[in-house]
Amino acid sequence: MAGLYINQHVLNNLFYILVTVFAFSFIYDHSPAIQRKPLYNRTLLCACLALASVLCMRFPIYIDPTCIHDFRQIPFLLGTLYGGGIVGAVFFAVLMLARTILYGFQSLTFVVYAIMFVVAAAASPLFRRLPRSGKLFASLWLTFLIAILTTFVAVIIADFSVTKPYIVYFIIMPPFVMMFAVYLMETLHEAQLARAELMKMEKMEIVSQLAASISHEIRNPLTVVKGFIQLLQTEPLPRETKERYIRIALEEVERAEGIIHDYLTFAKPAPKETEPIDVAVELRKVLQMIAPMAHMHSVDLSSSLEHGIVIGNVQYFQQCFLNLLKNSIEAMPNGGTLRVTVENQETSVVITISDNGIGMTKEQVRRFGEPYFSTKEKGTGLGAMVAVKIIEQMGGTWKVESTVQKGTTLTITLPARQLRLLSSQQSANS
Ligand code: ADP
Ligand code: MG
Repeated sequence: MAGLYINQHVLNNLFYILVTVFAFSFIYDHSPAIQRKPLYNRTLLCACLALASVLCMRFPIYIDPTCIHDFRQIPFLLGTLYGGGIVGAVFFAVLMLARTILYGFQSLTFVVYAIMFVVAAAASPLFRRLPRSGKLFASLWLTFLIAILTTFVAVIIADFSVTKPYIVYFIIMPPFVMMFAVYLMETLHEAQLARAELMKMEKMEIVSQLAASISHEIRNPLTVVKGFIQLLQTEPLPRETKERYIRIALEEVERAEGIIHDYLTFAKPAPKETEPIDVAVELRKVLQMIAPMAHMHSVDLSSSLEHGIVIGNVQYFQQCFLNLLKNSIEAMPNGGTLRVTVENQETSVVITISDNGIGMTKEQVRRFGEPYFSTKEKGTGLGAMVAVKIIEQMGGTWKVESTVQKGTTLTITLPARQLRLLSSQQSANS
């Protein structure tokens, strides 16, 4: 019985809805501008779902003399619930326009969708605040109630005849399809949030872990040193005591020195966990991390990333390119373009980072990657060094080409994972 109703047309309608929800999520995922600006986000939501509605309408489930049946109301409700009243109103206009162009104007359709719009727009603020399970439950019942309500109105004002296919396609199926669509929207959105959270944590870990532990470890000896120096300054002390204080202070300074030294083992990264790294995927993450900084410096990011697999530690890999990209952005105080490319050559993966910033003199190029070499007022001179060490650790090479006031291009060549070796290992394992 169910098989009779779930025909090709129904599947087509479902397909339009699912594909556009995926398309929305995909574009959202890959566009920082859309993630930042609610207006863009809503426009995209409206455009994707309106496309689904129009496709449903153009290729309906069935047409009978009184009406055309399809799932257009599902994207419409979805868009209005997630996007709010304005998205709903635009959507409503598009829907009516498409209906008029495709099949002519019908006042009953207008009334039915106007009711849907009003109910969904009113429910939207509440709906958006619900947790995931609440949204599923609400979407199921709301769609069902709207179907009953609009049918009731249609029967009263237009003497509409309720047929069996109508009950199946307009009253029974949509609530479930709607619930699945909401489930999909929620799942995709949660995955996106989880990924963003993870990235933030990774970023925090690299930067703050180091900074926090260094400052914590160094504060103690410094406090001691400060205390003894104050004592030496203020009180007339016997020579012996003075010498003892100085000795303690010196010991503490040495301790602090040792701590710094320890943390600079980061400078020769011991590869803990190495794994295959997709250069394009990881670089895209790093680009996302620095996007806000680039934005702040009016730097445009442009990238062309081919997939290529290298072996290394993901954390170090990210740290390395974070440092390099940061330098490039800092080199463009008046804005510019930062371009990152990845080229997959058979045995190696070649990464270039170019900026049109202040550039470096020959002497500066020569000193690039040297510890504590910095031309910046608050520079550490450690960023490039750490990056260079990580590249060398991965068995890679690097080259700096720079012209003062023109810009800098960094070319990094990393050995590509040897597929033959891997596949022979795999066959040995199996
Ligand atoms: P910091 O950024 O703290 O100064 P780094 O080790 O990251 O230290 O960089 C060392 C120096 O190399 C910088 O101070 C800068 O002079 C130079 N440098 C690095 N990258 C670039 C670049 N893309 N353009 C111009 N100069 C750069
Ligand atoms: Mg730096």
